[in-house]
Amino acid sequence: MIKPLPYVQKIQPYIPGKPIKEVERELGIKQCIKLASNENPLGPSPKVVESIMDFLSNPAELARYPEGSGFYLKNALCELFATRGVNLTHDEIILGNGSNELIDIAVKTYIGPGDEAVMATPSFVVYAMSVTAQGGVAKEVTLKEWRHDLEGMLKEITDRTKIVFIANPNNPTGTMNYRDEFDSFMKALREDILVVVDEAYYEYVTEPDYPDTLKYFKDGRDILILRTFSKAYGLASLRIGYGVAKKEIITEMNRIREPFNTNTIAQIAAEAALKDEEHLKKVLEINEKGKQYLYSELDKIRQIQYLPTQTNFIYIILPESISSKEVFDSLLRQGVIIRPVGPRQIRVTIGLPEENKAFIESLKKFFGG
Ligand code: PMP
Repeated sequence: MIKPLPYVQKIQPYIPGKPIKEVERELGIKQCIKLASNENPLGPSPKVVESIMDFLSNPAELARYPEGSGFYLKNALCELFATRGVNLTHDEIILGNGSNELIDIAVKTYIGPGDEAVMATPSFVVYAMSVTAQGGVAKEVTLKEWRHDLEGMLKEITDRTKIVFIANPNNPTGTMNYRDEFDSFMKALREDILVVVDEAYYEYVTEPDYPDTLKYFKDGRDILILRTFSKAYGLASLRIGYGVAKKEIITEMNRIREPFNTNTIAQIAAEAALKDEEHLKKVLEINEKGKQYLYSELDKIRQIQYLPTQTNFIYIILPESISSKEVFDSLLRQGVIIRPVGPRQIRVTIGLPEENKAFIESLKKFFGG
């Protein structure tokens, strides 16, 4: 029988959860509360729905390939960045089928067998998967005080290092690295290493000392800034994200990118989403309120600890004697789905007020509160 490449077998496949309808059927529960994947509980802007309906009013358009250059969405991104004092051109933007795909494209562009990429652990698992799939070496540096140990990561740099991944804020911890730490890191880093800063949760950040990654883009450094429409914009199902980097980097990545990697509906939806600032504001307000409610209720459960978050999820550390699997199972039986992210760690997405309440009640029930 045909054998896979040796490094393919090293990859831990991403195991998706069961379809929610199946879980509900098995448990005999009408509607589960899903707080497992950092999705936006409010959904996208109504303007997104309008734009999709408008597109579907001419079904013949479905037979056409997408706008291969992402022209209109790139225009909308350029407009948005201009309002923040950053002049972008189309050839400094790449669109991806989720920012996930852009991670993969960056790796395929710069990592070959034996090349190295430095990343944190625990962090977003896709970095190591993509690097390993190319025959590269994923050098994982344990978080320090739950945040990227940027100095420790610098120590892992060798002649073979091609990429450093920094998820900021980090998933699954929700923590972030500050501007001064990032600036020192960039100062010390060799200039021919690509820094991929994954800013998937950028819109949720409330901390003023967030690094100014665009400054490094403007300075011409080898940096790729990744953002997504899956989180704050509520478009996870459509799979669309974008990357910003200097033209030379985008040009190379475009050689690897499939010609029609982002679909028409995703492009239209993302463009409409960007233009509805009011909706984004509402999303962030609901997230902030939910966060404060969860903090105050989690504070009452003495057995657990949690990390303050810069995202739409919270990382919770369970006591020694309790496994994340036990908590996951108990909450699931109560119709609440969260994500175990370590032997004693769970991650919960901040939901709508009633969802947060149901989560807290189920957790209190587990701890006998
Ligand atoms: N980066 C991080 C840190 C994430 O948490 C996620 C989604 N869980 C992604 C990237 C990928 O997002 P998407 O592909 O949906 O844009």
